[in-house]
Amino acid sequence: MAKQTDFPVIFELSQEGRKGYQLPDLDVPDVDLDAEFASDYIRTEQADLPEVSELQIMRHYTALSTRNHGVDSGFYPLGSCTMKYNPKVNEDVARYPGFSMVHPYQQVSSIQGALGLMYDLQESLCEITGMDAVTLQSAAGAQGEWTGLMMIRALHEANGDHHRTKVIVPDSAHGTNPASATVAGFEAVTVKSNNEGLVDLDDLRRVVDENTAALMLTNPNTLGLFEEHILEMASIIHEAGGRLYYDGANLNAIMGYTRPGDMGFDVVHLNLHKTFTGPHGGGGPGSGPVGVTEELAKFLPKPLISKNQDGFYFDSDRPSSIGRIKPYYGNFGINVRAYTYIRSMGPDGLKQVSENAVVNANYMMRRLQEEFHLPFTQHCKHEFVLSGKNQKKMGVRTLDIAKRLLDFGYHPPTIYFPINVEEALMVEPTETESKETLDEFIDAMIQISEEAKDDPEIVQEAPHSTVVGRMDETQAARKPVLRYYREES
Ligand SMILES: *Cc1c(COP(=O)(O)O)cnc(C)c1O
Repeated sequence: MAKQTDFPVIFELSQEGRKGYQLPDLDVPDVDLDAEFASDYIRTEQADLPEVSELQIMRHYTALSTRNHGVDSGFYPLGSCTMKYNPKVNEDVARYPGFSMVHPYQQVSSIQGALGLMYDLQESLCEITGMDAVTLQSAAGAQGEWTGLMMIRALHEANGDHHRTKVIVPDSAHGTNPASATVAGFEAVTVKSNNEGLVDLDDLRRVVDENTAALMLTNPNTLGLFEEHILEMASIIHEAGGRLYYDGANLNAIMGYTRPGDMGFDVVHLNLHKTFTGPHGGGGPGSGPVGVTEELAKFLPKPLISKNQDGFYFDSDRPSSIGRIKPYYGNFGINVRAYTYIRSMGPDGLKQVSENAVVNANYMMRRLQEEFHLPFTQHCKHEFVLSGKNQKKMGVRTLDIAKRLLDFGYHPPTIYFPINVEEALMVEPTETESKETLDEFIDAMIQISEEAKDDPEIVQEAPHSTVVGRMDETQAARKPVLRYYREES
C-alpha cells in the first residue's frame, strides 16, 4: 500500500514577494489609516501569511480536500451513525432557487411551495412513525430528545404531577439519552440489560414507580437488537403513569415494517440526516423532527405548518406550546433532501431499505462471527456488535484493529461502544453497499485477525499508509494545535 504523497505545508513554499494576484496601481487617494482608526487598531508589522502563487494555493486546497474520508470516497461502517449514500438528486432539488433562495421573513403567500413541502413532510413522518403530529424544528437527534422530554414534562405539569422527575434509560442507550434527560431537568435512572442484550424486565419493574416521568428507549437498541418485549415494557410504563419516548435515530432497521406509534410510544424523534439521507458528519446541519400522540400535540414547539382554505401558514396560535426551540423553522435544506428521498423511494422503497439494511448486517455478522467473538448471537437488525476480546489475548486491541482498517481504505466501525461489550466493534454496513464491498471488508477484517496471530506488530503499529499516524488523543483533545508555527531558523 503506497503512502499518499506528502505535500509541503503552504508556509514552507512561501517566497518573499511572491503573489497570487495582480492589481493595477492605485489611481485614487489611499486611505489615511491614522486619521480613520485609533493607533492600537493599526498593524505595525506585516501579517505572517504565506506568499505563494495562485496555482500553489490551488494545489494546496485541492490536496487538502482529498484528505477526508467520506461516504462518497469509501466504505464507512460507523455503527449507529448510518453513513449511507446520500443520493445526488436530493442536492439538485435542495438547490432549486425556490427552496434555496427563500427568506424566513418572506410573505407567506410567496412561499406556498416551501410551506407545502414542510407540511407534506410532517404528514409523511406521521405516517412513517404512526404518530399524530410532527414538528420539523429541531436541528439534531439530541435536540429532538430534549424537545420530546420537555413536552412530556409539560404534560405531567399540566396534570399536576410535579413529582414525576425520573427518566428511565437502559444501560445500552445512546449517550445523548441520559444527557438530554438531565438537561431537560430530569434525573436519569439506569435500567440494566439482560444477557440477551435486551432490557431486563425485572429490573425495569424494580426502577419504575410513581415518580417515573418516562422511559427513553432505542429500538432496535444500540446492540442492533429488536426489543422483543416492547409491548410489555410499554404497559409497565403506562400503568405507572409514565410516557414512552422512542429514540428513532436509527429507524432504517424497521421503517415500513413497524412503527413506534404501533408499539405504544408517545413521542419519537427521527434523524433525517441518518435514515433519510441528509449528508452528515463534521457537525451538521442535521434535522431531528419529533412526533407525538394527540395527547401531547398541543405542547409541540411553535409554529407548526398548518393548512386552511387560504393555503399553508405558520400556526403560532398555540397557547400550550413549549415555545420556539430554534430560530425560524428548522434546517430547511435538510428537510428538502429528506422529502425528496421519501418521495423518490415511495412506501415500498422505504420498506426495501430496511430489508436490505438488515440483510446486509446479518450477512456480515454471520461471516465475521467465525473470526471474532459475537456476544449476542440472535439475528441482528441494521447493525451488530462484535467483541475484539479474542484478539486482545494476542495483544491486539480493538483500537489497533480500527487503525489497521485505515490501511485498507476503510473508515473503522464505532469502537468501545456500547460500553456493556468488552473491546466492542459496532458495525453498520447500511443498505446502500454492494455484496462485493461487504465481502472486501470482511476479508480485510479476517486478514487483520490473522495478522494478530502471526504478526501482531503490523496491527499494533498501524496505520502504515496514512499521512498522519497515531495521535496522542488526549493531547489532541486537550491541547489541540490548530495553527502552523514556523520553526525559527
Ligand atoms: C445519532 C444518534 C443520536 C444523536 O443524534 P444527533 O443528531 O447526533 O444529535 C441519538 N440516538 C441515537 C440512537 C443515535 O444513533
